[in-house]
Amino acid sequence: MSVSVVWFKRDLRVSDNPALVEAINGPHPVLCIFNLEPERLERADVDPIHIEWELDCLAELCSSLESIGGALQFNFGQVTEQLSDLHETYDIKNLYSNEETGLQWSWDRDKSVAAWCSTNDVEFTEFPSNGVVRRLGTRDHWKKHRDARVSAEQVNTPVSMDSPKGFSSNEIHSMERLGLKPRLLFERPLPGEKAALNVLYSFLDERGRTYRKDMSSPKTGWDACSRLSPYLAVGCITIRQILHHTRRKQKKVKVNPRSKENLGWTSSLSSFQSRLAWHCHFIQRLESEATMDVIALNPELDGHMAREMNAERYAAWSQGKTGWPFFDACMRSLIATGWINFRMRAMLQSVASYTLWLPWTDTGLHLARCFLDYEPGIHWSQVHMQSGVTGINSIRAYSVRKQSTDQDPDGDFIRTWVEELRDVPKEHIHEPWLMSYEQQKEYNCLIDVDYPSPIVDEKTARKEGVSKSYSAKSKPESKQRSLLVYDIHGSRKRR
Ligand SMILES: Cc1cc2nc3c(=O)[nH]c(=O)nc-3n(C[C@H](O)[C@H](O)[C@H](O)COP(=O)(O)OP(=O)(O)OC[C@H]3O[C@@H](n4cnc5c(N)ncnc54)[C@H](O)[C@@H]3O)c2cc1C
Repeated sequence: MSVSVVWFKRDLRVSDNPALVEAINGPHPVLCIFNLEPERLERADVDPIHIEWELDCLAELCSSLESIGGALQFNFGQVTEQLSDLHETYDIKNLYSNEETGLQWSWDRDKSVAAWCSTNDVEFTEFPSNGVVRRLGTRDHWKKHRDARVSAEQVNTPVSMDSPKGFSSNEIHSMERLGLKPRLLFERPLPGEKAALNVLYSFLDERGRTYRKDMSSPKTGWDACSRLSPYLAVGCITIRQILHHTRRKQKKVKVNPRSKENLGWTSSLSSFQSRLAWHCHFIQRLESEATMDVIALNPELDGHMAREMNAERYAAWSQGKTGWPFFDACMRSLIATGWINFRMRAMLQSVASYTLWLPWTDTGLHLARCFLDYEPGIHWSQVHMQSGVTGINSIRAYSVRKQSTDQDPDGDFIRTWVEELRDVPKEHIHEPWLMSYEQQKEYNCLIDVDYPSPIVDEKTARKEGVSKSYSAKSKPESKQRSLLVYDIHGSRKRR
C-alpha cells in the first residue's frame, strides 16, 4: 500500500503544521513517526529534563492525532532504520517534515534521511519553520523574508486524517525505560499544544500588562514574562500563532489605549513583539553556522581571550555557591525551576565569562542543561554575545552588586533561594561578608562556615576581564573577522 510519512521532530503540534497538512491533503494514507536518537542521551548539552518534556509533549500530540483518526509511532534508534522497517510493510511515496535548525549532529541526521529517501525513491519535502530562512543568500533582505513568513495566514488545523489499516500508535518510552532520572522541576509547565495556547491567552489577557516594566526582575518576570519558551523549543506553538493573537490584542488596545482596561499594554506588546523577532534572528545565526557550540563566531577574538578552566571557580559558579547572594539565588532558582528571565541569564553567563574568566563552551553547556527551554540557536548566540566573542556586540559585563540592589532591593528573592541567608536583614543581604562576627552569629550565618565568602573580589575581577576583552577585540585579526561576522549575522537595524 502506498503511504506518506510525516516525520515529527521539534514541531509537536497539529495546528499550523504545514508538513502534516500537506501529507493529509495528498493522495495517500498517512503514517506519523517520531524518532529519539540514542546519541541524544549522551550529548553534553542535553539533560533528562529536555527528553522528559519532549516526550510528554509528544504524548499530547499523539492523543491529538488519534482524535482525528491518525496514529503515531515512536522509535528509539536511528530514523533511517525506522523508515526502512516501515518501507518493508508499506510503499512510502513521500516523506514530509518541518525544518529543524540545530547543531551539526541534527544536520548530519537530516542529510542521512535525505540520502535514504533518494536511495529508496521517496520524495522528501521540508517546510520552513518560523522566520528562519534556509539557504539565505544575504542578511540584507532577511527581515523582509521573516516578516512575510510570520505574518502569513496560519495553516488550517486538520479535523480528520486517514491512516492505513493496522497502523496504530505504540507506547512512548518512559524515562525509566530510557534509564533517565530527570530532576524534579518546581512548577514545571503543563506539556502540549493546548497548554501552550492557554499560557499565551493568560499572558495576553492579564499577565503581560506589566511585561515591559517587570521583565527584568527574576521576581516579577516569573509571571510577567510570557513563559512560552519551553513550548517554542519543541514546537508546540509557532511564532506565527503567537503573533496572530498578539496583533489581535494590539488592535483591541488601539481603540482606546488610555482606558484603565488597556493601561500598560501598548508598550508591553511592542516589547514582546521585538523579542519574537529576536527569536528568529538568533536562530538564523545557527542556521548558517552549525558549530556555534564549539567555535565562536569570531574565533580570532576568542583565541586572543584565552579563557581557562578553573575547577574551583566552575564548581562555585555552576552550583550557586559563589558567595554573591543574588548570583547564587539566580543559579539555584534556575536549577530548581528550569527557567529564569533574560537579564539574569545574561548575568549568569557574563559573570562566568568576564568576572571568572571561564571558557564559554563549558559554562554554556551547563546553562543549556539547566534551561527547560533549551533552544540551540538562541542559546549559543546569547552565550557568544554575553561572552564578547562575536566582535559585533558591545562588551557588557554585568555587576552582581548592581543587579542585586536593582532587582531585589529587599532581598526577598535571595532569602527564598539561599536558605543560609534567610535571617539576614536587608542592610546586609547583598554583601553578607561585611557583617561583623557578632552580626553573623545574630543572623545565623557564619561566613565561610554556613555561607562562603566571595570567590573573587567582584569589582576587580570584572574590570580585569573587561580590560582583557577590549584588548583582544582591538587586535587586527579580530577586527578583520568582525567585518565578516557582521556581514553574515549582523542585524541590519543598527549598523
Ligand atoms: C545566556 C542566555 C541563554 C539563553 N538561552 C535560551 C534558550 O536556550 N532558549 C530560549 O528560548 N531562550 C534563551 N535565551 C533568551 C531569553 O532569556 C529567553 O527566551 C526568555 O527568558 C524565555 O522566557 P519567556 O518565554 O517568558 O520570554 P519572553 O520575554 O516572554 O519572550 C517571548 C519569546 O521571545 C523570544 N525571546 C525573548 N528574549 C529573547 C532573546 N534575548 N533572544 C532571542 N529570543 C528571545 C523567546 O522565544 C521567548 O520565548 C537565553 C538568553 C541568554 C542571555
